[in-house]
Formats: sequence, C-alpha cells, structure tokens
Amino acid sequence: MGATPSFQSILDDLYDRYKSFNDGQVASYIPELAKVNPDLFSICVATADGRVFTTGDADQLFTIQSIAKVFVYGMALDDHGRDKVLAKVGVEPTGDPFNSIIRLDEHSKRPDNPMINAGAIATTSLIKGNGPTERLNRMLDMFRHYVGHDVYIDMSVFVSERSTGHRNRAMASLMRHFGMIDDRMDESLDLYFQQCSMMVTCQDLAVMAATLANCGVNPLTGDRAVPGCYIRDILSVMYTCGMYNFAGEWAYKVGIPAKSGVSGGIIAVVPHQLGIAVFSPPLDSHGNSVRGIKVCEDLAQQLELHMFDPPMGCSHILERIGHEQ
Ligand code: GLU
Repeated sequence: MGATPSFQSILDDLYDRYKSFNDGQVASYIPELAKVNPDLFSICVATADGRVFTTGDADQLFTIQSIAKVFVYGMALDDHGRDKVLAKVGVEPTGDPFNSIIRLDEHSKRPDNPMINAGAIATTSLIKGNGPTERLNRMLDMFRHYVGHDVYIDMSVFVSERSTGHRNRAMASLMRHFGMIDDRMDESLDLYFQQCSMMVTCQDLAVMAATLANCGVNPLTGDRAVPGCYIRDILSVMYTCGMYNFAGEWAYKVGIPAKSGVSGGIIAVVPHQLGIAVFSPPLDSHGNSVRGIKVCEDLAQQLELHMFDPPMGCSHILERIGHEQ
C-alpha cells in the first residue's frame, strides 16, 4: 500500500492535471478584464487552523469581482441585522444569469438574493457611513480583516466598470423606484464598482474563505472579520446561489458553499476545515472559471468534501493534513 499523498502534492497534481486545459473565454464585457493573461493559474488552500498551501501564480493580483458580494453581504448583516437585510434582499436562487433584471418587477420589488448583481447593489446600499469616503473606508477595513493586510482598488478597472455598467445602473434605478435602496444611489453604485475592482491574490482569497470556515475569525491574524452568528446566513446563500446559474449543479456535484467572479476566481468553504481558492481567467458560459470548476470537482471528490458525503467525510480533512507545514 502506498503512503497517503501529502496535501501539497495533491494540489501540485491538480495544477499539473489542469494547467493545459484551455477551454473557456476571458470575460470581455468589462474592457479592462479582457487584457488579462488566460494562462494564469493558481490553487490555494488555507486551513481553519492557519496553514496555507499554494500552487502556481498564487501572488498574482487580480480584481475580486463578484466574490466581493459574499463579504459585503456579511457587512450589511453586521450593520443592520438579519430582518432588515432580509426585507431588502431575498435568499432565493434564481437560475438566471448574474446580471439578470427580469425578476425585478412590480410584484417582487426585492432582488432575489445577494449573490446576483441586483442583490449585491442592494446590500451595498446598506453599508453605513457618513458620505462616500467613510463608507468606502469602512468597506476596505472590513476586507482588510478577512485578508490580513491593506487592500487597494484597481482604478482602471473601477473606471472601466463605472463607464460601462449601464445595466447595473438600470437595476439600481429600478430598486430606487421600488424603495429598496435609498437616495445615495450613485454613491452606492460607486461603492459597488469599487468592491468589484478590489485587488486580491489567490492566496488572499483562500485566507478569506478560511476566515468564513473559521466562524469569521481570520486564522492567520486572529482578527474577527464578521460576527460568527452571520456565518450560517453567508454560507447558506453561497451554497444555494453562489455559482451563477450553475449553482444547483454545483451544490449537487461539489456540495460546498462557494462563490465565483468573472475575473476567474472561485472560493469554496468547508466549514470548520478549509478555505479553497482557485484563479484561472477563462470562463464557461455561466461565467465560472473553467479550470476552477474542474479543480474543485476533483478536489471535492478526492477528499470527500461534499456536505452530504457519508460519513460526513470532510470532518476528517484537518486530521488528514496532520502536521504538514
Ligand atoms: N463587476 C461585475 C458586474 O457588476 C461583477 C460581475 C461578476 O463577477 O459576476 O458586472
């Protein structure tokens, strides 16, 4: 019988297996995103007890895009509590693309969930603060707790998003009309474009995911990023709505809460165990990273991470990693 492979070698093998997988297209609807190198690829895992494993381009900076929605939702919950947030943003998966506007109608008024653009604009509008600078600084501060260091906004992506985000602006106007967002609509839209344009590395994303796995405390710094009582809200919407209109299939096949973004990042959270992050820019037709999906499917199968894998196999991962590092 061969020895159990080390955790690092599992990640290295996944990297080698999928690095020449060339399907998918880099997002181009935000002009700045189209310039990215499609060969960039990294897989990183941070454990809930503070170890970090990396492969590939782990230090490459890119914009976080929709993955920010997860953390801003947590901030809205922290600022206002569950009931007020639920009154403004639902928790129903849509099965529609991330930028769909069709369900924002007279009947529903409320965006379906905080993982689609309309819902994220609504949660962003809930960020407290006196004026745009204070609100932006509060948001960056929240991200800093998750990442463990200062974070910055890529100005050219921000300007690109802001000047081409007509659909997002249309959704915000509709929600303003329905009374779902307040008078600070333009300010909140800027805050939305800014959060999408925040720069992270794949390693940062793994630490952010591990912070969620560790009940809201960054396992490297010991800083609390979000009250533990909101982790279940955040992970529930990630599980049901986090992977665009592939969320149901993802829940069925991979079975762990996750969120992806159009710059090619995916985070996945194994509660109390791991934060997983993959970065690879080419996307499938849903907007999910092609290599990212492959890696997560493979890793979940190898380590039996699916939430409903008998006998709750994922609770043994930390033991399996043992004392590596
Ligand atoms: N900034 C992007 C937008 O609002 C985010 C899209 C995404 O990553 O899903 O269009």
